[in-house]
Amino acid sequence: MDRFDPAVIAVPRGHFIGGEFVDAGTTRIDVTRPSDGVVYASIPVADAAMIDHAVQNAYTAWRTSGWASCAPRERARVLRRFADLVAADAATLAPLEALGSTRPVRDAFNWDVPFTAEGIRFYAELADKIGGEVAATDHRHLGMTMTEPYGAIGAIAPWNFPLVMASWKIAPALAAGNAVVLKPSEMTPFSVLRLARLALQAGVPPGIFNVVQGDGRTTGDALVRHPRIAKVTFTGSTRTGAAIMAACAETGTKPVTLELGGKSPQIVFADAPRIDEVARRIAGAIAGNAGQVCVAGSRLLVERSIADELADRIAHVFGELHAGPTWAADTTLPPIISEPQAARIEAIVQRSVASGAALRCGGERPHAATPGPFYAPTLLTGVTQETEAVRHEIFGPVLTLQTFDSEEEALALAAHPDYGLAAGVHTADLGRALRMVRGIEAGTVWVNRYGRTSDFVIPTGGYKGSGIGKDLGRQAFEANLRIKSVLIDIGQ
Ligand code: NAD
Repeated sequence: MDRFDPAVIAVPRGHFIGGEFVDAGTTRIDVTRPSDGVVYASIPVADAAMIDHAVQNAYTAWRTSGWASCAPRERARVLRRFADLVAADAATLAPLEALGSTRPVRDAFNWDVPFTAEGIRFYAELADKIGGEVAATDHRHLGMTMTEPYGAIGAIAPWNFPLVMASWKIAPALAAGNAVVLKPSEMTPFSVLRLARLALQAGVPPGIFNVVQGDGRTTGDALVRHPRIAKVTFTGSTRTGAAIMAACAETGTKPVTLELGGKSPQIVFADAPRIDEVARRIAGAIAGNAGQVCVAGSRLLVERSIADELADRIAHVFGELHAGPTWAADTTLPPIISEPQAARIEAIVQRSVASGAALRCGGERPHAATPGPFYAPTLLTGVTQETEAVRHEIFGPVLTLQTFDSEEEALALAAHPDYGLAAGVHTADLGRALRMVRGIEAGTVWVNRYGRTSDFVIPTGGYKGSGIGKDLGRQAFEANLRIKSVLIDIGQ
């Protein structure tokens, strides 16, 4: 599927609580299509009372539905069916995802939906693979650890990959036997409602997977503060992550998993093989989803001798991209999520230029068939570590270029004072690549590639201000389990 008519897409309504759609509440938020600025629906804002209703419902379902106590292979069977239903629903889910987000429908159909399904399948497969241990005690005792779900987990997701980001939260939580109350971003609230409906259809009991709608200040805050929420898992900005951590600390001691922002370096040495391919990789890592990717490779660090050539090739690839709505077949540069966010990107670029940076290309609003907030892929040279565009996460298609003459200098430039989410290293020298892997302070380092594969077994998560804990991998499954220690006196 590579196109659709936005006028004919129906969106699900309200919250999804206890296996039913609930569209109650007088406060509402309009939801806008980023591709053309049209308000196409609204959502109710769950207040503290609605959150209490959803969480109590989830907790009761967790205690009584048998989801936590059934054989893990039974949960696995249901979750495999859930994954199958998601994959089979691509023709409906993909346009629903694309309609109100920045995901071109071709990508949503070919990647987001199948990737969501496969992630659910990965955790279904783990459901009965990880348990406790028998401890090495003396023979008068039997010591063991048991793994148990937490109960009701509060999950909060961002707007940039609405289905995929949500699935990374809910799949390990459900596979481990928890109930989930998920709050999607108020800007992309609808596709996860369909996901929750498909889970119910697959056999996940009512109340085990709930969706609440609303903004961060009212709904998100009430969710993380609710005393029956036993753990919080969040993906979003570093600032919100810190606020959530504070809210959790103020209301108890619940654990948090935080997947936060980044300012990831791409380090290119002069010996990197196939420079044209490297240029395409670098361009794709910052222009994909118009740079609205947590691991966007936003800081290019390049060995001085090839800097000009690489900059030219990247500018050439940027020039090939075609701005357009998520429902058009020829769109390769989707919109920015909102006009205020596009204006923020524009302002950061302008201030960076005013402070001495040079525009190699971009720095403008490109022409597109619809009046959405598009922003041209932009390459800034002449920047320093202090330039605003180098220092701050922009979350747009803006790449800065700095040069280096030695490995030490590359590592010094790569180090960011606040973030440590991901990094790319491009070189033909294996020893050098591994020295960089060792030297870079980041949760993920890609060598001669940039971006994840479908190897869900590899976890993702940041160092420093980029986060706490991991999504994906068995690590995310284990983070959804508590460990109970048992010591039995067995006599003589
Ligand atoms: P955001 O922090 O503004 O919002 C994320 C979610 O948090 C939304 O659902 C929002 O409603 C909610 N929220 C806001 N304030 C809240 C509060 N006080 N309490 C509870 N919930 C609150 O982020 P965003 O703009 O939606 O997403 C972009 C950010 O997400 C970027 O910084 C990006 O790097 C980051 N991100 C990180 C990863 C990762 O895996 N590390 C993945 C995707 C996005």
